Amino acid sequence: VRFHDLFLPIALMRAIQEVGYEYASPIQAMTLPYSLAGYDLIGKAQTGTGKTAAFLITVITDLLEHRLEEQYSGEPRALILAPTRELALQIAEDATALTKFSRLKVVSAVGGMDLEKQQKQLAEQRCDILVATPGRLIDLMNRKSVFLDQIELLVIDEADRMLDMGFIPDIKTIVRAAPRNENRQTLMFSATFSPDILNLVDRWTNDPVRVEV
Ligand code: AMP
Repeated sequence: VRFHDLFLPIALMRAIQEVGYEYASPIQAMTLPYSLAGYDLIGKAQTGTGKTAAFLITVITDLLEHRLEEQYSGEPRALILAPTRELALQIAEDATALTKFSRLKVVSAVGGMDLEKQQKQLAEQRCDILVATPGRLIDLMNRKSVFLDQIELLVIDEADRMLDMGFIPDIKTIVRAAPRNENRQTLMFSATFSPDILNLVDRWTNDPVRVEV
């Protein structure tokens, strides 16, 4: 599948051309028809498969197609959760590249980095896409620096590592602050589909499509 044939928003298509992607990878080709149609989805995919672009293209397309400039409150409309700072920063970098030709703003909220700077970015600027690690996001929520009631899309990346690292209670708190399952689109990715992961999928998604590469 060529990206060119997916009828993506022009601003996104320009960015995809600039980063040099022409053909969708297998996980992208299997995911995008469902995720772009608005379905919840659970994807089994390792790093290196192109899963990041799969969910970013979904998020960016949705945000560009559902403009709400007039009522836009400045709060995030998409939240991407990742288990580590390195992964979150990589996702934020990719998201910044893919939003280059749009007005969408990407902010990262990750542990181990300047909290005040993150508070300032959340306060001063629009923040369409927030990429966060769970602990730091809870910290910012407790300080009322960010509110999740406008979240239209939630991505939980590397859910199996989230579980191994003990982040599930934090993610439960975060999901409770976002709109209900039926009122947002949720995409989850995991390298494995263990019973524990499928249990979380049940809790946080609404009738998801299951994709494995
Ligand atoms: P990921 O699995 O998301 O960590 O992506 C692995 C690498 O593949 C990253 O360096 C991406 O920039 C690259 N990539 C993702 N999608 C494509 C694509 N459709 N064509 C070429 N490279 C891609």
